[in-house]
Amino acid sequence: MARDKERACRTCHLITRKNICPQCKTHTLSEKYDGICIILDPKNSELAKNMSITVAGKYALRVR
Ligand SMILES: [Zn+2]
Repeated sequence: MARDKERACRTCHLITRKNICPQCKTHTLSEKYDGICIILDPKNSELAKNMSITVAGKYALRVR
């Protein structure tokens, strides 16, 4: 069973298995990223603020 690779959006850092970022609607996705963080409550997360994240989800810390 083939498993789609997870990709990280270069713009918002969201991790997705789709070919398009569901947030930015762009195809600027990279398979090369470092670190994963789960943002559950963006309004109360310093990390989310630093990364300009406004929607809960799984994000890459750094996209290469
Ligand atoms: Zn994005």
